[in-house]
Amino acid sequence: MNRKSPCRCSPIFEMYCDLLEAYGAQGWWPFDGSHHEQNGTDPRFEIMAGAILTQNTNWKNVERALKNLKLKNMLCAESLLSAPLQQVAELIRPSGYYNQKAARLVELSRHIMNVCLGDMDLFFCRDTRELRRELLSINGIGPETADSILLYAGKKPVFVVDAYTKRLCYRLPLPIVRDDYETIRSYFESELSRHAQGDELTAIFNEFHALIVKNAKEHCRARSLCEGCPLERICNFSKQEQNLSR
Ligand code: SF4
Repeated sequence: MNRKSPCRCSPIFEMYCDLLEAYGAQGWWPFDGSHHEQNGTDPRFEIMAGAILTQNTNWKNVERALKNLKLKNMLCAESLLSAPLQQVAELIRPSGYYNQKAARLVELSRHIMNVCLGDMDLFFCRDTRELRRELLSINGIGPETADSILLYAGKKPVFVVDAYTKRLCYRLPLPIVRDDYETIRSYFESELSRHAQGDELTAIFNEFHALIVKNAKEHCRARSLCEGCPLERICNFSKQEQNLSR
């Protein structure tokens, strides 16, 4: 990818390059490959479960919940579906909202077993829009969770929008007329598809979302730390802050 080529540079792609240069590849989505190798399970289910468990909590808590599921060898659709709901809830307790999340995990597992008997290749080989509709029909799976599953487990070209992305869009600002999920998602997808296609585009979606999260933790917090932020050069919010402090 040559960011210097004039036909390839747009503000949003520059933003991606700046973040990548500052932080490097983030290696998302993390999963325990050796656990799945030893147990003959599919790591994509761990990613799907992680996308549900991470709702309204931090990743440390998700890791504790995933570890409990692994210790009981319950990190696959079949095992989760055959376990008592209360046991699932207890195991994932560290992730918070554990009764709700247990019900969501079990419902997702039931869906996967119904559709493809737990075969993730069969599950994800289908059309992205059809899969997205299907995931969104599962209770407790909203757009951010569905798109995380599609992108990180299914390797589908879908951009994930979260609260950090919305904050960034507002602060830079990006020329987005509305701040709803679908408008922001379409904006990122159409802008970035001018720079790459196929697997390369999916890899950019994967990395960009992870980099936005990283930058939100390092700099673009609720109370921003603009000094040293890789996006300071292009961000209006930081200029306004500097003017106010003069
Ligand atoms: S310069 Fe400040 S407001 Fe802009 S993206 Fe960075 S931390 Fe956020």
